[in-house]
Amino acid sequence: MNAVPRPVDAVIAAAREFLGDRIGTGQSLREQHSHGEGSAAPGLPDAVAFVETTEEVSKLMALCHQHGVPVIPFGAGSSLEGHVCAVHGGVSIDLTKMNAILDVSAEDMDCLIEPGVSRHQLNDYLRDQGLFFPVDPGAHCTIGGMCATRASGTNAVRYGTIREQVLGLEVVLADGRVIQTGGRTRKAANGYDLTRLFIGSEGTLGIITKIRMRLHGIPEATSAAVCQFADLQPAVEATIAVMQAGIPVSRIELADADQMRASIAYSKLEGMAETPTLFLEFTGSPSSVKEQAEAAEAIMRDFGATSFAWTVDAEARGKLWKARHDAWWAANAMKPGWKGMTTDVCVPISKLAEAVVGAKKIALEMNQLTAIVGHVGDGNFHCVIIFDPTDPKGLEQAWELDRRIVALGLSLGGTCSGEHGVGVGKREFLVQEHGVEAMAVMRSLKDALDPKGIMNPGKIFVN
Ligand SMILES: Cc1cc2nc3c(=O)[nH]c(=O)nc-3n(C[C@H](O)[C@H](O)[C@H](O)COP(=O)(O)OP(=O)(O)OC[C@H]3O[C@@H](n4cnc5c(N)ncnc54)[C@H](O)[C@@H]3O)c2cc1C
Repeated sequence: MNAVPRPVDAVIAAAREFLGDRIGTGQSLREQHSHGEGSAAPGLPDAVAFVETTEEVSKLMALCHQHGVPVIPFGAGSSLEGHVCAVHGGVSIDLTKMNAILDVSAEDMDCLIEPGVSRHQLNDYLRDQGLFFPVDPGAHCTIGGMCATRASGTNAVRYGTIREQVLGLEVVLADGRVIQTGGRTRKAANGYDLTRLFIGSEGTLGIITKIRMRLHGIPEATSAAVCQFADLQPAVEATIAVMQAGIPVSRIELADADQMRASIAYSKLEGMAETPTLFLEFTGSPSSVKEQAEAAEAIMRDFGATSFAWTVDAEARGKLWKARHDAWWAANAMKPGWKGMTTDVCVPISKLAEAVVGAKKIALEMNQLTAIVGHVGDGNFHCVIIFDPTDPKGLEQAWELDRRIVALGLSLGGTCSGEHGVGVGKREFLVQEHGVEAMAVMRSLKDALDPKGIMNPGKIFVN
């Protein structure tokens, strides 16, 4: 008896006509595209398509729409909340081959790129022109993926998140239509802001195929500082005081004692104690960099800093920020064979000490090994929960701690996710955060743009 053909088989057959062998169904290819970096259960797509042009994306979307086949846009797969898991199968559309830098305007300080461009690729390209793109998540990722997750990084305290950089988008909708949003002007009051609708939509509303973004001038001078404390509470309180004093820090990042122990071992940091630490960066003219460092040091000393050392040496700065960006891998290396799961709570800055110290207290009460790092200038911190994946209770306890830290963050007026997004893992908190009516409005928008529900199903919404 012949098997009944599946709708996805019709899509694959028709897509082969314009993609050739760039649409594949091999097991290892599908497995590679079945998960991101987090702890969510993998979901195997039926096929993986490597697209190269907007026209190909449009034709493929029209086919999937016609046959009601799920589509999962895929950047670098570095997202942490199960965003790219194909929970209902379908076609994973890999955008990494769409990685051209199409235009850079030094006069207007903006650029037009394809979604598969990475921040390192863009910054290498821009360096000779004295320009840079400031958003720097701690993983290799695509700028399309960053737009889709509303990402940020250590520079957000000074330059904002990806949301503040994007001027306009080209988006392929669920039925294959192609639209342009936004424009090239620095401001516009010309109707609904569709650009912001797609920023953070996690592949559930459309596929971003071009991005117009602002760029920034490389600062004249940069200095970095390391400031250590005996306890966590004063380190966080000092951060709040620096922000409230209006010192224009470019970066202010926290590592707790456990994270310092991990990073000193992993990144071979020398001359640092295994105690709570703030990493800071100041940019501007040589004199303003000095003034900012001195003003920050005075505040840190008032809060009992045990040391404050700053440098303009580029190599020392590079090593420091590499260690900060490697914090996740350092935490994961704390116990061989164990794994990390990270929270992403963000709170109003005045509540930061309560949130961070409270999170650590809950972890200690649960006898759970954790390491805390944070983009604390924004009120955002990550509690990396280190668990034994071979112990069935390990993952369960990690999720329970995650929930309790989120509950604390929400009780302080915060959010379950400052930058990683919702995916599968944070869906359960959205009604509490936004309310039933606001979620119904989000659902109406989703239904209007994706009436067949094919765009990354199972993400953001519980049902
Ligand atoms: C070690 C580590 C550190 C991290 N640090 C940070 C950090 O500091 N800040 C931060 O914000 N995040 C951080 N992340 C999370 C992750 O890097 C970001 O979420 C990143 O923006 C994801 O980009 P990606 O290209 O990997 O996207 P993917 O993981 O491939 O996809 C993410 C989501 O975007 C959708 N998507 C991808 N491309 C498109 C497109 N072109 N159009 C529409 N939808 C699309 C996908 O369907 C999915 O829902 C970190 C992750 C790791 C592993």
